Amino acid sequence: MSSLQPVRGTHDLLPEDSRRHRFVEETAFSVVRRYGYGEIVTPIFEFTEVFSRTLGETSDVVTKEMYTFADRSGDSLTLRPEGTAGVARAFISGGLSQNLPLKLFYRGPMFRHERPQKGRLRQFHQVGVELLGVEGPQADIEVVSMAWRMLQALGLGDKVQLEINTLGDAESRVAYRDALVAYLTPYKDKLSKDSRARLDKNPMRVLDSKEEGDKAIVIGAPLIHDSLSPAAQEFFAQVTSGLTALGVPFVVNPKLVRGLDYYCHTAFEFTTTALGAQGTVLAGGRYDGLIGQMGGPATPGIGWAAGIERLSMLVETAPDLDRPVAIIPMGDATAAAVLADSLRAAGVAVELGFSGNMKKRMVRANKANARLAVILGEDEAARGAATLRDLDSGVQEEVPLSALKERILGQ
Ligand code: ATP
Ligand code: MG
Repeated sequence: MSSLQPVRGTHDLLPEDSRRHRFVEETAFSVVRRYGYGEIVTPIFEFTEVFSRTLGETSDVVTKEMYTFADRSGDSLTLRPEGTAGVARAFISGGLSQNLPLKLFYRGPMFRHERPQKGRLRQFHQVGVELLGVEGPQADIEVVSMAWRMLQALGLGDKVQLEINTLGDAESRVAYRDALVAYLTPYKDKLSKDSRARLDKNPMRVLDSKEEGDKAIVIGAPLIHDSLSPAAQEFFAQVTSGLTALGVPFVVNPKLVRGLDYYCHTAFEFTTTALGAQGTVLAGGRYDGLIGQMGGPATPGIGWAAGIERLSMLVETAPDLDRPVAIIPMGDATAAAVLADSLRAAGVAVELGFSGNMKKRMVRANKANARLAVILGEDEAARGAATLRDLDSGVQEEVPLSALKERILGQ
């Protein structure tokens, strides 16, 4: 360990990374705002039980991945590994059940002690949404289609695929649990240690195992679709026909289950083949039991979360919304500083060159993605003028100093 290295699995976002990161965040928020979602900011850490009880004692996140520590008062705290549990906690402790339905957006860092690799970090970032208080499939249709519209707005419509499944209602899950246990029990000795433990506590979790040996066994497992109650079948049919009506392309993946304990009915993921093993960019589902299980008033919910780093890697170019004007002073530095100051006061981004020859400064202006260059050369200054160059078209002209600011503000 070297104390001057970043901690394994963490990274710095340098300005170019931040720009992409922000583009993802801002695009996500601007899309979900159109659906009436407001931003909630919950603490980065919570009491450990907020996560351990809600995510399930057998989930990978709880058993292997949480950053848990005792603080100076001896309380067990955990850096949030995901957003939903904290939002549900805020819903209960803030008494928000009078305001249903509630539409919430969040963004920010999450922490999981995983083996770092491309697209898999120990501190990563998510954007996510939660829709609380709507029981019917209209909520599922809105939340899934909203994710699709957001991915399209990021320019990823051709790169991702929506996979969707149903985990059924309570009745279906009881029936399925029995069928699954009956199938898996003869293989008990061949299952991984984790999956053996899951077989007793939460057999559906075995389906989500990443162990090759488990995967081979799971291939022949019965499907939830064979255990669905008529009501659960009807619910799923409404979700899929709603998505079709909205023109959202999807495939039904009957093997898709979610890693966390609290899901029912709709489960979905947007995946890509462009990121190797870390193919899931956005995942979500319905969690009607969660808030009641945490001790709050029984409240249905559905949501999703997307990994910003994975999305950033897929995004081709993040538009630079605030392209600067480059001021290139070859003579009077103070006059240049005064012009830059007055333009900035008027809301214009200005890149002010400090040193170097003309060529070097133009290279720097282009690197800053400037849209205009103002060249304050000695010759022009003698004529009381400056050269204004449009860096996209290359067209330039001489403008009297007295008219310079107005001209720039008009462009
Ligand atoms: P995976 O199967 O890749 O481990 P997960 O099921 O643990 O994903 P979720 O808890 O559903 O992931 O989180 C939603 C999204 O957050 C993922 O689809 C992914 O884009 C992102 N994500 C999850 N874990 C990480 C991580 N360690 N590093 C970067 N992004 C992550
Ligand atoms: Mg994971």
